[in-house]
Amino acid sequence: TAAAPTFRFDRSATPVEANERAARLVDPGFGRVFTDHMAVIRYTEAEGWHDAKITARAPITVDPSTAVLHYAQEIFEGLKAYRLDDGGTALFRPDANARRFNNSARRLAMPELPEELFLQSCRQLVATERDWFPQIEGGALYLRPFMFASEAFLGVKPSSDYLYMVIASSVGAYWKGGARAVSIWVSQDYTRAAPGGTGEAKCGGNYAASLLAQSEAIRQGCDQVVFLDAVERRWVEELGGMNVFFVFDDGSMVTPPLTGTILPGITRDSIIRIARDQGIEVREELYGIDQWRADAASGRLTEAFACGTAAVVTPIGEVAGVDGRFTIGGGGTGQLTQRMLDALSAIQRGRAADPHGWLQRL
Ligand code: PMP
Repeated sequence: TAAAPTFRFDRSATPVEANERAARLVDPGFGRVFTDHMAVIRYTEAEGWHDAKITARAPITVDPSTAVLHYAQEIFEGLKAYRLDDGGTALFRPDANARRFNNSARRLAMPELPEELFLQSCRQLVATERDWFPQIEGGALYLRPFMFASEAFLGVKPSSDYLYMVIASSVGAYWKGGARAVSIWVSQDYTRAAPGGTGEAKCGGNYAASLLAQSEAIRQGCDQVVFLDAVERRWVEELGGMNVFFVFDDGSMVTPPLTGTILPGITRDSIIRIARDQGIEVREELYGIDQWRADAASGRLTEAFACGTAAVVTPIGEVAGVDGRFTIGGGGTGQLTQRMLDALSAIQRGRAADPHGWLQRL
């Protein structure tokens, strides 16, 4: 393989002025405050990956026939850089995101990006945007690497050209009003992914297909949608953008297995390993919606939580569906849920030992 291109650096001539940046970082919310620069790498069949740069963040123009606009050949990732207590900065498990990105690329018939280019694009962007870390509880720099089909051609085939970019967003807590137990709506009419489909890839199309179900959840007074499997409409799979865990009265935990229809969350994997390190039994096994309801009623199920990069760990207080509603435990934040959140956050912030080497300092 050819040597990885080095990144050219074009500093923005019009960065956001310091006072204005400080004002934006007071309460950034999620995904609305963006930094001054972005990473860009181009791919063509003839040249491979080339023209890597960190450049001023700016709109891009695309031809109206650009493939991604018609056939949705697009993938993305989501990961966070954290400001550590000692003043340093670090990415959390970026190598896992790089691998998942390439798994998604293969499924969408896109070229793989050498892992080192993925890592360098993230590291160099974070190094450029050190001033954009919000100094608030739960604050971080959220990175959004993505790649799309950029060939101008209406034929249905894998594109010959691609654009890979990384943008960065200063983020605070994911949920408005801070961490609290959320309510979730069990989608009966819509599924997210079928066997043989793209469920385990992080492609934009999966999210487009989930939006109507998420709107229904909101209409039903819930915060998030939870999907069942597409074949039996019975097994709990995942939320629109988070994996799910169940906690039982014997202190064990269950999470749905990676059967190909759910996204292999890096937070999910981290929690499994943290729990096992602590001697907690974690089973990756199918769990049915009827069982969930019965176990919540009997008290066998004591907690449930959702997890992902954006919101980290979120307790699930209530579940609603066409068959009615039920509450989990006391409807608040369970003990084990809090323990997992604290343990993971401590590693991410550099406040605890990092036995698996998950933090990559810049
Ligand atoms: N499931 C889906 C559908 C998601 O979009 C995400 C967010 N990437 C997750 C699970 C959680 O994955 P991670 O822990 O890697 O953020």
